[in-house]
Order: sequence, then C-alpha cells, then structure tokens
Amino acid sequence: MYDQILEDLKPTNTLLVAVSKTKPVEDIVSLYDKGQRHFGENRVQELVDKYEALPKDIRWHQIGHLQKNKVKYIAPFVHLIHAIDSKELLTVVNKEAKKNERVIDVLLQVKIAQEDTKYGLSTSDLNIIIELYLAGTFENVRIIGLMGMASFTDNTGQVHDEFSHLKETFDILKKNSLANKEYFEHLSMGMSGDYKIAIEHGSTMVRVGSLLFGSRV
Ligand SMILES: *Cc1c(COP(=O)(O)O)cnc(C)c1O
Repeated sequence: MYDQILEDLKPTNTLLVAVSKTKPVEDIVSLYDKGQRHFGENRVQELVDKYEALPKDIRWHQIGHLQKNKVKYIAPFVHLIHAIDSKELLTVVNKEAKKNERVIDVLLQVKIAQEDTKYGLSTSDLNIIIELYLAGTFENVRIIGLMGMASFTDNTGQVHDEFSHLKETFDILKKNSLANKEYFEHLSMGMSGDYKIAIEHGSTMVRVGSLLFGSRV
C-alpha cells in the first residue's frame, strides 16, 4: 500500500505524512526502512515517547487538536504543527518556540466540514490571526499554510466542495495578505478515505494512517 500511495502522490509532488498514532514503534521502523521520514501523531505523550525511541532524522508532525499546556513538551523538536485552531494556542506555541530559541512552522486549521464535531477556525478568526501575524505578534512561528478536515461522509460531492473551499481560502490569502510570504505554500488536506480527492484540489501534504498501518482499535 505504501508504494501505491507514493505513486498516487508523485504527479503532484504531494508529501506523505504517515499517521502512526496508536501504532507501535516497530511499525514506524518498517516504513522508516523503506525511506519514509515524515510521521504524524495526535497525542503529545505518544509523540514524545516515539521521538525519544526512534532515529533523530524523523520529522514529527503534530496533527490533531493540541492542548495549550502540552505545547512545551513538543516545542524543542516538532517539525510542523498542523492544527492551530485558536489565537491562544498560537500565542503559546510562539512563547514556547522562543524559549527554545527556534521558529516553529505551523498550519492554521480552518473549519471546512459541515459537521460541528471538528475543530477549526472560522474565516473571521482566521483573518484576525493573520492580521496579528503580519503585525509581528508571533515572531517565533512561521505560518506556512492551512489545514482542514472534510466531513466523514460517503457523499464525495460534499468532500469535493469542502476541499475546494479550503483551496479557495488559501488562494485568497496567498494572493492578498500573504503575497510576499513565499513560504506560505502548504495545504494539509486528505486522509485515508479522501486523499485522492484532496490532491485534485491542490493538497501539498496528506495525513494517511489506517490505509498504511491498518485500522486502529
Ligand atoms: C487520525 C488522523 C488522520 C489519519 O486518519 P486515517 O483515516 O487513519 O488516515 C489524519 N489527520 C488527523 C488530524 C488525524 O487525527
């Protein structure tokens, strides 16, 4: 399956983030041995434990909702935080990045799903954060793009609409307020069930778990 997914991502040069949450380190090692270097986790404790146990050239992605009081544990080493869903969280990430004398790359999570169970910023909150960012409020973070999760549904039309909406939001920012930020170039969208749809809409990184590692119990 790994090779098939890489094949699917090749034409658009989309990055595979292998979502290894709940899976043992041996599973990670077997993909590592095939050359995979980007892995994603959604629980901080698990991310830290795996970081400590595994080779240091792995790039660790924090992919799910992140609690403010846990940021300090991942700040020294995290490669990318995908799911900034509030100004308060970004403030804490900025502070912890500064303590570690580094700049942490982040994505802003936009609410695109119709379901109301998912985290994410509204358009107005998104714009407030971008304004503060451009005013220099978050000097130790770099906003390199957006992230979104589509509804969990068989209605592929709806999934197309939601990803297309995220791409549009991204393009508007890229064209206007963030036009001179060449690093603002990422769209993290697509999971096991919908990554093919996501790449049709310009995803630059997909977060795939169960399709690679088997279902989680
Ligand atoms: C678990 C998870 C994924 C991967 O889900 P799969 O359906 O197993 O591919 C992707 N993104 C986030 C935020 C997740 O929590």
